[in-house]
Amino acid sequence: MRLSRYFLPVLKENPSEAQIVSHRYMLRAGMIKQSAAGIYSWLPLGFKVLKKIETIVHEEQMRAGHIPMLMPTLQSADLWKESGRYDDYGQEMLRISDRHGRDMLYGPTNEELITDIFRSHVGSYKDLPLTLYHIQWKFRDEIRPRFGVMRGREFYMKDGYNFDLTKEDALHAYNRHLVSYLRSYERMGLQAIPMRADGGPIGGDYTHEFLVLADTGESEVFYDSAVTDLTFGDRAIDYDSVEQCQGVLEEFTSKYARTDETHDEALFNEVPEERRRVARGIEVGQIFYFGTKYSEALGANVQGPDGKQSPVHMGSHGIGVSRLLGAIIEASHDEKGIIWPEGVTPFHCGIVNLKQGDAEADAACESLYEALTAAGLEPLYDDRKERAGGKFATMDLIGLPWRITVGPRGLKNGVVELTSRRSGESEELSPEAAVQKIVEIYANHQTGRGF
Ligand code: ATP
Ligand code: MG
Repeated sequence: MRLSRYFLPVLKENPSEAQIVSHRYMLRAGMIKQSAAGIYSWLPLGFKVLKKIETIVHEEQMRAGHIPMLMPTLQSADLWKESGRYDDYGQEMLRISDRHGRDMLYGPTNEELITDIFRSHVGSYKDLPLTLYHIQWKFRDEIRPRFGVMRGREFYMKDGYNFDLTKEDALHAYNRHLVSYLRSYERMGLQAIPMRADGGPIGGDYTHEFLVLADTGESEVFYDSAVTDLTFGDRAIDYDSVEQCQGVLEEFTSKYARTDETHDEALFNEVPEERRRVARGIEVGQIFYFGTKYSEALGANVQGPDGKQSPVHMGSHGIGVSRLLGAIIEASHDEKGIIWPEGVTPFHCGIVNLKQGDAEADAACESLYEALTAAGLEPLYDDRKERAGGKFATMDLIGLPWRITVGPRGLKNGVVELTSRRSGESEELSPEAAVQKIVEIYANHQTGRGF
C-alpha cells in the first residue's frame, strides 16, 4: 500500500476521552472512530488488524477440528423464552421489536440458537463429537462501556459450542479448546494465562479464563510467577489424543493462577513467597463446560449406542476478538506508539522515503516495494512529500515492527537502513539483503494476508 493512496487519519493530539494507552493509540493511529458509546467504526488500519486476529482464530479452530459457520446477530426472543434466559439476562440484552411487534434481540451470545440448530439436525451419537463455532458481532448493553474496544457494547467474538455424548468426551473438547486458545494467543505475540474462574450459577470447576497481564486490566489476579515461564511453542499436538490434550491442560493449570472470584488465600500461601504475584489482567477468552443445562432446557437429546436418549453434553468457548486489539496494545507499546507483534501487524514492513521526488530514492523504494510484495508481504510505503520527522512519527505510532529507510546518502554507498520498532536498533544493508531479512523474519510467522 502506498500511504498517499491509503486512508490513515492519524491524530496529532491525544484525544481527551481516552483513559488508557490502547484506546488512545487506536484513536490516534486512525484505527477506530466512535459511533455511539461502546460502538465503533473500524477504519482501514483497525479493520486490517481485526481481520488478522480473526484469521488466526479461524486457522487454530479449524486445526483443532472445529467447524466454522455463521449465525445472525438478530435473534427471535422465542428460544430465549424457552431456555428461561429472556428474563434472566437483564438489561445487558438489547431488546427490539419488529414491525409485527415480535420480540427480537441482538444476540449477546448463542447457546440457544446453536442448541436449536443441533436439536433440529442431530439425533444420534454417530454424529458426535461435534464442535461448531462462529465469529460474529455481539451486543451487550454494558452499564459502563469504556476503554475503547476493550469494553464495547458491540464487539466481535468467537464463540464455539461442543456437543458430546458423555461428560468425558465433553471434557476432551474442553481441553482441545484450551490448547487451541494457547496456540492462538501465542501466534498473536501474547501471553494469556489460563486462570481458574468462577462457574457462576452453574458452578463446577470446568471454566478457565485467559488473562493477559496488564496494569489496566479490569480483573484482579493471583498467580505463581512460574506460570509465566510456560509457553506452548511449536510443539506438535494431536487434537484427537485425549492424553496429549489432558497433558497440556495439566501443565498449564497445575500452578496457582486464579481470578479474584475463585481466589483462595490459604492455597495461595502454599506458593513460595518469592513467586506469589498479585496483579491485574485483561480477560481475552473463556472456556466453559456446562453439561446439559441448555440441552435439557431445549430438549436436545441424542441416542446412545444402547438406544437410550439422553441430553447432549455441551460447553461454550469464547475469544474476545475485538478486545484483543486493545489487549495486544496494552501489552506491547512504548511512549511513541504501538509495537505490533509480527503475527498481527497490519503491514509487514514500512518503507520511508527520506527524499520523495529524488529519482534514485524513488526508484529504490519502488523496487523494495515490488520485491516485498512479490515475496507475499504487504509493505506500507510512505511516499508522501513530508518531512522525515513526520514520517518516522507516523510509522512509530502505527507500530509496524520493521522499517526500511531509504535516502540519497545511503544509496550512494549502496545501502538502506533496516530498523526494528521494538529494539530501536538499525543496521545498514543492501536493499536486497534488507528484503531477504524481512522475508526470513516472516517465514517464522504464519500471518494471513490482510484486507
Ligand atoms: P467480562 O467479564 O469482561 O464482562 P464476560 O465474561 O462476560 O466478559 P464472555 O461471555 O466470557 O464475557 O465472552 C467471551 C469473551 O468476549 C471474553 O473473554 C472477552 O474477551 C470478550 N468480551 C466480553 N464482553 C466484552 C465487551 N463488552 N467488549 C469487548 N469484549 C468483550
Ligand atoms: Mg468471561
